[in-house]
Amino acid sequence: MTPQPLQADCNACVGLCCVALPFDAEQGFGFDKPAQTPCPHLQTDFRCAIHTELAAQGFSGCVAFDCHGAGQRTTRMFGLRPDWSRPDPITPDMFEAFFILRRLHELLLLATTTQRYLQGRHLEQLNSWLEPWQSRLDALCLQGLPGLRSVDLPREQAFLKQLLDPLRHRPRPIQ
Ligand code: SF4
Repeated sequence: MTPQPLQADCNACVGLCCVALPFDAEQGFGFDKPAQTPCPHLQTDFRCAIHTELAAQGFSGCVAFDCHGAGQRTTRMFGLRPDWSRPDPITPDMFEAFFILRRLHELLLLATTTQRYLQGRHLEQLNSWLEPWQSRLDALCLQGLPGLRSVDLPREQAFLKQLLDPLRHRPRPIQ
């Protein structure tokens, strides 16, 4: 199975973060907006009307945000081009899938970053636990919403933490 990219591809997405997530002006999102409400700058082609001037207009939070690939994955899963200006019975499902996939992609990114760190450090045992867990997590991401709902996120998070904890206490090499 080919691992999915863990970086946002906004061209392959329907602007999920601009709709599903709440905005907080104090956190660099220009103004306050409740979750599941389209940002007024989101156009009908799912592009941002102020993309080139986000930071200048007070949206540094949008510049820094990365869904780690959950947006395009959710978009592909549902195969829809929603009209965000109108209520649609399917959109709550899209939002729910996006939230779960975001968490899963964050965990996958952490695991991938750890694997890079492990290279050449003689921690093969750790890698041998990490790799099957990553493959399993990647497979979970493909299940569709009913399968995603059954994912025990706290358990997966705890498993990764348990694997990574010993690394935090390893002595750092002298520079
Ligand atoms: S949800 Fe992700 S891919 Fe979609 S627009 Fe936002 S950052 Fe881009």
